[in-house]
Amino acid sequence: MPTLSSASSKTSARRGRTAPELVFGDLWPFDPAPETADPKLKARYDLFIDGKFVAPKSGKYFDSINPANERKLARIALAGPSDVDAACRAARRAFEKVWGPMPGRERAKYLFRIARLLQDRAREFAVAETLDGGKPIKESRDFDVPMTAAHFFYHAGWADKLEYVAPGRQVAPLGVVAQVIPWNFPLLMLAWKIAPALAMGNCVVLKPAETTSITCLKLAEIFQDAGLPPGVVNFVTGAGETGAALMSHPIPAKIAFTGSTAVGKTILRALAGTDKRMTMELGGKAANIVFDDAPLDQAVEGIVNGIFFNQGHVCCAGSRLLVHEPVTEAVLARLKHRIRQLKVGDPLDKNTDIGAINSREQLKKIRTLVASGVREGATLYQPDGILPAKGFYFRPTLFSEVTMSHRIAREEIFGPVLSILTFRTVDEAIEKANNTAFGLSAGVWTDKGSRILKMSTELKAGVVWANTYNKFDPASPFGGYKESGFGREGGRQGLLDYVILKP
Ligand code: NAP
Ligand code: MG
Repeated sequence: MPTLSSASSKTSARRGRTAPELVFGDLWPFDPAPETADPKLKARYDLFIDGKFVAPKSGKYFDSINPANERKLARIALAGPSDVDAACRAARRAFEKVWGPMPGRERAKYLFRIARLLQDRAREFAVAETLDGGKPIKESRDFDVPMTAAHFFYHAGWADKLEYVAPGRQVAPLGVVAQVIPWNFPLLMLAWKIAPALAMGNCVVLKPAETTSITCLKLAEIFQDAGLPPGVVNFVTGAGETGAALMSHPIPAKIAFTGSTAVGKTILRALAGTDKRMTMELGGKAANIVFDDAPLDQAVEGIVNGIFFNQGHVCCAGSRLLVHEPVTEAVLARLKHRIRQLKVGDPLDKNTDIGAINSREQLKKIRTLVASGVREGATLYQPDGILPAKGFYFRPTLFSEVTMSHRIAREEIFGPVLSILTFRTVDEAIEKANNTAFGLSAGVWTDKGSRILKMSTELKAGVVWANTYNKFDPASPFGGYKESGFGREGGRQGLLDYVILKP
């Protein structure tokens, strides 16, 4: 693996000239520090239906690769319509015979056990998540796996408290729910979907994303170890057609989808006129808004976390930065300095800040949108530094002089690319932040509490962070406005999407 710490000749020349200027990776020339835990991968993963691993009826498999080096990790079963049907039937049997009638306090024990078993195998799961998806090990280790366990713990706590879900009303489970998730947080998105569904007494058929199915199937091993009754959770792996077959299957009473707005719209069109309950968690184009009275160093850390965390593969990524004009130059200078210190490279290395882009297709999409930014007249800044020769990588990228008409200000890039716009007044900031088809999240950085209250009231976004960014908790609901979707996940509100309310 080529090292990022080798400075380019351009850098060395610059260094000799004035005060040392920093290039990402060469601030402290770290030795490689790869995580060594054994991810215990199988060469082949079958479907998980009715508590067992079963081969797909078609006998077809596809490869899951490591985006950090393009090497094959495992073969994954390709589920067709008859496999989806078998999974939905297994879920219905489990719902009618076991899980539906089971008292909540018993269901809680299974959720608790799953969380504990995941904690026991946390390092193994973190390495598997990083290998399959490309995210830095420090994120899968410190964020994805602990948050996944936290969601199971939190919902274990709800399973025996159904009378508090909607005070004064009785609640009942929906039955079977069909769920489809994306590749950016494979384990966490799965927990957001499965934990509330199970806690409320539903059974599940879930399809993970094609490029990141491995940790989902490893979690099926934990479900077996936890003694979860067969059929309560079923996993069907495959591509978009598998997802479409699952969403339109007649058995599930509800579908829950997390993914792009384009696919969400396709699903809504296909299911229009059915009586299925639906929730959609779709794309985003969040604005991080920095006022001139903000603590700038903290704001810069928040901005960097907001867009470069997980390579910008984050639905609520702060992909647009709106800066108050008096501090634009100061913020831009700090940002340039900061991103030169980010380490891009081997995701398994504990020092890596920006790992691999999830797939070749995603890298292509990022490159296309970045090229459009240059063509349309925005000013590009990328630090020097050598990227690994194999695998899918992209430099942290800043675009200044961006206007609202640029594609990079309007479309979701889903990569480590920040578009910087400016504003003069509070009203202009609100108007620019809301001038988007999306409405998932936003960030406000200011010293004034009154301004935070005004902004959070007027911003059309499901989550508004104040003087911080990308903070999550299983107890706080998450979800979108406008084309970012509908329905909430997390907290008490998230449970309401998995129950029937009785008078
Ligand atoms: P995607 O292309 O929409 O895919 C999402 C999932 O849908 C994948 O499992 C995909 O399968 C499947 N799928 C594709 N076509 C389908 C169809 N016609 N019917 C049913 N399922 C279908 O999105 P992505 O590229 O994986 O994920 C990135 C997107 O997710 C971004 O837009 C991001 O903002 C959004 N996201 C939103 C949230 C949120 O909470 N709002 C959270 C995370 C991500 P394949 O993988 O096989 O294509
Ligand atoms: Mg993979």
